Amino acid sequence: VFTPAQVAQAPEDPLFGLMRAYRQDDFDKKIDLGIGAYRDNNAKPWILPVVRKADEILHNDPNLDHEYLPISGLANFTSAAQKLILGADSVAIKENRVTSLQTISGTGAVHLGALFLAKFHPRQPRPTVYLSNPTWANHNQIFTNVGLAIDKYPYFSPTTKGLDIDGMLSSLKSAPLGSIVVLHPCAHNPTGVDPTQEQWKQIASVIRERQHFPFFDCAYQGFASGDLARDAWAIRYFIDQGFETCVSQSFAKNFGLYGERAGAFHFVSGPGAEAQRATTNIASQLAILQRSEISNPPAYGSRIASIVLNDPKLYAEWEHDLRTMSGRIIEMRRGLRQRLEAKGTPGTWDHITSQIGMFSFTGLNEKQVQILREKWHVYMTKNGRISMAGLNTHNIDYFAEAVDSTVR
Ligand code: PLP
Repeated sequence: VFTPAQVAQAPEDPLFGLMRAYRQDDFDKKIDLGIGAYRDNNAKPWILPVVRKADEILHNDPNLDHEYLPISGLANFTSAAQKLILGADSVAIKENRVTSLQTISGTGAVHLGALFLAKFHPRQPRPTVYLSNPTWANHNQIFTNVGLAIDKYPYFSPTTKGLDIDGMLSSLKSAPLGSIVVLHPCAHNPTGVDPTQEQWKQIASVIRERQHFPFFDCAYQGFASGDLARDAWAIRYFIDQGFETCVSQSFAKNFGLYGERAGAFHFVSGPGAEAQRATTNIASQLAILQRSEISNPPAYGSRIASIVLNDPKLYAEWEHDLRTMSGRIIEMRRGLRQRLEAKGTPGTWDHITSQIGMFSFTGLNEKQVQILREKWHVYMTKNGRISMAGLNTHNIDYFAEAVDSTVR
């Protein structure tokens, strides 16, 4: 029997605990800046207009049924997903050295990649996985759960509230040869701080020099800048440089398909005579891993994304929807910075507009976060991260006032 002593009570997931506390608060001006999901200007979830259209197309399809998808997922979806993230003219696609599987959103993609590396990485013992400090908290658990050792590289500088590029490069230089390095190609979670293209080149050069293995986790393509190609630039650059890499891709944020769990995992082999055969073998092993984990991925979200991605007109409408979301977030960044600067709130606030994507690392400390929650009913994670999508024209004044009062 499992006694309570054998199985200890696990701590509640901090983010989901925060959501629960928010729901239980009945103050009318409460603000939820915790969860990383887009909200419209009325703080409501937003169904993308193009998703509504695709949904209608799907439901009018007389051939629609509820059969299983293949193990590797819907082929029209994975091929479009591949082109979306690697670029339609990707040399790796042309050379048939990419294998793609549909996964349980981005989480499932990171997991499948982690599991594959844990089982098949050619080196014994397996290399350590280097994660940015800080990173999406789930990275720690996902890589640890498959038995890989994890470590950190510096990323965020609390003084500049920007990228600690020197710390990052020197840490990657001193990491053991051939380590696995997890990178966020755009809209870094939780900091909102991304390397510039010049900095990406420096990062690639150190990764090359140290023969590290880059693993890209892309959860916000198109959501960061509003430009799909720009947000995928780093991945495409590394592939053009001939790196072998893993890419996880989420459609949760950029399609607003959070609960439908649409995502893809791509393994890109490096160029060379053996690349095609290696890719075929890797594909066969990934299929076996997928079969034992989930048998086959869920159909609905991938059908929606596939309809949009494979139709030029709907694709253009999707790009418009992406600009609506990223544009509103950029507006909120400007608005918040402007309000804090106008009030003369102690500290500097330019990082609010230089950071990008769903989140901003405000620099507010744990004590201030607590005051904001207890006195002002503003909910955010302890590290001072706010989800920019939680701000809107109705609550931004209240939030700026709350921050100003708390910081003074
Ligand atoms: N990776 C990062 C960096 C994320 O921020 C997220 C979502 O917050 C994910 C992956 C995965 O999200 P999902 O599994 O909902 O696609």
